Parts: sequence; structure tokens; C-alpha cells
Amino acid sequence: MIRLQKFMADCGVASRRKCEEIILQGRVKVNGRTVTELGFKVDPQKDEVFVDGKKLVPVQKKIYIMLNKPFGVISSAKDEKGRKTVIDLVKDKVDVRVFPVGRLDFDTTGLILLTNDGEFAYKVTHPKHDIEKTYIALISGVPTRDEIERFEKGLVIDGKLTSPAKLKVLKVFKQSSLVEIKIHEGRNRQVRKMCDAIGHRVLSLKRVAIGKLKLGRLKEGEFVFLDENMANKVF
Ligand code: URA
Repeated sequence: MIRLQKFMADCGVASRRKCEEIILQGRVKVNGRTVTELGFKVDPQKDEVFVDGKKLVPVQKKIYIMLNKPFGVISSAKDEKGRKTVIDLVKDKVDVRVFPVGRLDFDTTGLILLTNDGEFAYKVTHPKHDIEKTYIALISGVPTRDEIERFEKGLVIDGKLTSPAKLKVLKVFKQSSLVEIKIHEGRNRQVRKMCDAIGHRVLSLKRVAIGKLKLGRLKEGEFVFLDENMANKVF
């Protein structure tokens, strides 16, 4: 017997944490009965589990995709307003269900992973694994040494201190600068809020690496399949 959320993750629904949310939303039925309990256990050989009316089957082959998300595309699997999602960009070439690992803002471009491996997604997004994410940002003005120091010590955003981050100025323009930023968390609009906190507005933002996995020359909207070894570069 295994926990329902683990079974769901093994079937490629989403990460274990996201599966817990789906259970609490009352979207899961086991043998015809809606289950909203997180401790619920199922027998993968015998029990029939449905999510949103679809029967789950354990994943046969694990898939990992690295996508360069374009500006204006939603990084969740579904959008209530019918806007284009990262799944829409790959679905013609992928015949199994995949979901995004973590998220990027609508107005952020760059590296996002898609997979059907719930355990992998759980490890990438769980704070205890402390994975570094690298961004290139165009920001207003040029940060001073003092501002960079404040940024690197960690800043209070939304009432909570961030973990230490890194900021390196790459290029200086008349009214803006190009910077490289490295953070270890994935809080909502974290890079934008941290830059705001030191008085510099983010004008554009691109994620270029997760751990040691780099976006490289992949163009916006393009994606590549990764084997398990490549995908594990994030750890
Ligand atoms: N930080 C942000 O502000 N936005 C993102 O999309 C990712 C990190």
C-alpha cells in the first residue's frame, strides 16, 4: 500500500506536493469514492484511481524536457483564461502527459523543465534540496556596492527574509544594467521583488540555469528531451 499522493506522482499527475493540493480540492476518486484525506493509502495493483474523471496508470517511461519559455506563455499545465501554456508548446510532439516543474512568471522567459516524473519534480522544487537558479536580468539603473551587499545578505520580501543570493553586474548602459542573479528559493516573483527592494526595477528577466543544467543556445519556444543523467544535473 502506498500513499495516494505518491501513487498520483508515480502516474505523472504532478509533484507529490501538487498532488496533495489536487486531493484537497476533491478532484480524486478511489474506487468511485471521492477522497480528500492526505493519509489515504491505495494498492496500486487493485485500486482504481481517477483524477478529474481520468483513470491513472503508472508511468512506463520517464520523460524530461527542457523548454525555453517565451514571454507571455503561462507556466502552469492549465489556464482558466485559455491563454497559451508551456504544455501547449510541446503537446504535438509528446504523446504522454507531462507537467511543469515549478513556475516562471508570465513575463519571464527561459529554462523550465517539464516531466512526468513526480519524484523528480518534488526533489527539484522542495526547499531542502537548495537548488541554485540563475537568471539574467535587465534592471533600471546600476546597483551600488552597498545595494549588492544588501541583496546578497538576503532581503525581507512579503514579511520574510530570503536566503542569501548573488548579484553580479555584467554590463552597464546609460539608464539600466544587465545583471546575473542567483537565488536558492522559488518564492513568488522573488527576483523582481528583491530587485525592487534595493530600488531597481526588473525590465526583463530570463532564467538561464537550474543547478548545473544550462539553457545554452535553445531559442524561445524551442525544447529538447533530456535523458535522466542530463536532467539530474540540476542536483
Ligand atoms: N523570480 C521572478 O521574479 N520571476 C520569475 O519568473 C522567477 C523568479
